[in-house]
Amino acid sequence: MSNRFQSFDSVALSGVQKLSPYQPGKPESELKRELGVTEITKLASNENPLGSSPRVVEAISHSLATLTRYPDGAGFELKEALAARHQVDSCSITLGNGSSEVIELVTRVFVAPGDEVVFSQHAFAMYPIITQAVGGQVVEVPACEWGHDLTAMLAAISDKTRIIFVANPNNPTGTWLTGDVLHNFLSRVPERVVVVIDEAYFEYANNPHAGAVDYPDAMQWLDDFPNLVVTRTFSKAFGLAGLRVGYSVSSPVIADLMNRIRPPFNVNTPAQVAALTVLDDAPHLQQSLAVNVAGMSQLTAGLVALGLNYIPSIANFICVEVGDNARVVYDALLKKGVIVRPVANYGMPRHLRVSIGTEQENSHFLSALKPVLDDLRNAREIT
Ligand SMILES: *Cc1c(COP(=O)(O)O)cnc(C)c1O
Repeated sequence: MSNRFQSFDSVALSGVQKLSPYQPGKPESELKRELGVTEITKLASNENPLGSSPRVVEAISHSLATLTRYPDGAGFELKEALAARHQVDSCSITLGNGSSEVIELVTRVFVAPGDEVVFSQHAFAMYPIITQAVGGQVVEVPACEWGHDLTAMLAAISDKTRIIFVANPNNPTGTWLTGDVLHNFLSRVPERVVVVIDEAYFEYANNPHAGAVDYPDAMQWLDDFPNLVVTRTFSKAFGLAGLRVGYSVSSPVIADLMNRIRPPFNVNTPAQVAALTVLDDAPHLQQSLAVNVAGMSQLTAGLVALGLNYIPSIANFICVEVGDNARVVYDALLKKGVIVRPVANYGMPRHLRVSIGTEQENSHFLSALKPVLDDLRNAREIT
């Protein structure tokens, strides 16, 4: 029986045959089931630890009266609000079921089997997945000190290159590119190649208290570069990961192309209502950013005290180098109710990625980590 089903593997697209699926952070419910741990701290998916604002919950509950109706397929109000916010025409905006879907749309518009897509080593896992899914060729450019090496990425462009993905800041490394460097890069990329600047963590990075010098808002360059697509999401600082809503801003021409293949009702009604609400909820955003800055200091100080190196980050997560035993550390933390993210699949087998939580969650992580490291160090001394 199973053989008959396995035979489908050979008729799937060859890019799909070679894929391994996206590995999400372990859900709390799964850890509860597997280990019976009850007090759980999940710092695995870069989610907003504050939860959604009460205003969102209220707005969504009103929208529930219209669940029998299809959502507004054009996302009119949300696009108008975003257009006003970014001072662009609403026909430049493409809404997605999370910005992951926008990344998928742009890839499906431009990449045919055999075409090349360029991105950096240690970049977001969705880039290779969607590239391979459409039969494209992945061109992964070695990173430089964990960050994007834009010179090498320029050199990787060929006649077959259709898209370059740049995550700023990058997930999982938290590294970022300054305005000068990124603008210089854009001016050197041939205009026929689409450049997607993925700004999923924009709000965190753009916060003056986050410590990034000259972190750029790539939207300022949209008029200069018709091949530029900037993506943003409501999943991170805005705290709506569970509702799935993100968007891109690009030239109207590219937005129109993406709209042709966009599933017509890809952003559901509560998601549209929630996104509109959080756009106006400056206090919740400010509080989220402040919690992140405080949590980042707390975590980095705690990691230094434990004698660990980390990659400086301006996002809401940080990669800490725990050594050859990263998987052992990850498993031991799970047993103590702390879920972080292994990043071996990002080519970082010695690191773990930790999302910034509330003060209490960060303390739980640090106090769970210490005995795990002590045990490993003792074991090393004995052997
Ligand atoms: C989280 C993330 C996204 C998008 O997430 P969505 O929930 O699909 O909006 C995009 N890019 C990067 C680099 C991310 O980390």
